[in-house]
Amino acid sequence: MTTRIHYTKPSITELEVGYATDAARNGWGEHCYDYIHRFEALFREHLGVKFAIATSSCTGALHMGLAALGVGPGDEVILADTDWIASAAPITYLGATPVFVDIRPDSWCIDPDAAAAAITPRTKAILAVHLYGNLCDMDRLLDIGEQHGIAVIEDAAEAIGSIYHGRRAGSIGRFGAFSFHGTKTLTTGEGGIFVTDDADLHERVLTLSNHGRARSQSKQFWPDRVGFKYKMSNVQAAIGCAQMERIGELIARKRAIFAAYREQLAGLPGIALNPEPEGTQIGAWMPTVVFAPETDISRERLQAAFAAANIDARVFFYPLSGLPMFTPHPENRHAWDLPNRAINLPSYHDMSGEDVDRVVAVIKDLLPHA
Ligand SMILES: *Cc1c(COP(=O)(O)O)cnc(C)c1O
Repeated sequence: MTTRIHYTKPSITELEVGYATDAARNGWGEHCYDYIHRFEALFREHLGVKFAIATSSCTGALHMGLAALGVGPGDEVILADTDWIASAAPITYLGATPVFVDIRPDSWCIDPDAAAAAITPRTKAILAVHLYGNLCDMDRLLDIGEQHGIAVIEDAAEAIGSIYHGRRAGSIGRFGAFSFHGTKTLTTGEGGIFVTDDADLHERVLTLSNHGRARSQSKQFWPDRVGFKYKMSNVQAAIGCAQMERIGELIARKRAIFAAYREQLAGLPGIALNPEPEGTQIGAWMPTVVFAPETDISRERLQAAFAAANIDARVFFYPLSGLPMFTPHPENRHAWDLPNRAINLPSYHDMSGEDVDRVVAVIKDLLPHA
């Protein structure tokens, strides 16, 4: 029996263990925020943004950011139909409606034309989700946002290491949110971060994140409004500091694994991998293959073939509008079609070249003319 190839797995070294141990032993009392503040500073510097607030999840960061933008009951937020539900759920928490539009067949990210067409007087924001580390067309989205006076915000949970014409994903919109869940490129176990260059927005989220207690409030135990509790713990931040010291290595390894896949697969007829358009660099969180309709290769066949080879490959996100709690939008043609013939490939830090070869062999076996 071959060994199992996992699809993601964090890279935890003695550095992470050392910092976490130090936080567990010494990070209390007056030191209880030391690693959190250090982590926020390292992240700000990496991303090139002015403000960062570490959170317990990306979901929480999005929830607070949307609340700080004033999104509320009756409002609409436009986002791609192809996505993980964590981007849409916070919109519903606020009583607003996620408006799902189609993706572009090449980037698998939101189609700016579809976003523009979905704008109504109730639209509060366009949420750009950089799917699998692929980049949204931010120039077009920012133009549309500006034209209509609507905020463009970024869910960059999957896009650490992705760079759009010199700017890092997550630093381009009005605010950005990241996830440090155990499956992501940088992990703290569970965790996230809110980032922005907007001083007022930062102040509002800071207050919200502290149960509604403003920094300027001198009275103890005195919230000025109802806020949230989505804080990252110091022990998690300690792991995050070690990961940030290794961020270059973590991203480089993701990109190297993607490059190895691309080298062996890109020329084959009937398949497409994550695109990397001119002027951009992708963090390659999730190398993904989409099979052309004429190959006749279905998700089910892909799942069976990878399972037989003891490889943990994952299905492409189902369209969110197809889930039971939302209204179906099958007219989002690409979002409804692509997942039927696509698969996420394993890409964890410590996977070997032979592991990549095993994954590639499964794909080549499926393609009749490869
Ligand atoms: C992982 C992920 C999230 C959620 O992150 P959590 O930290 O689990 O809340 C949000 N959006 C996208 C696109 C993700 O991939």
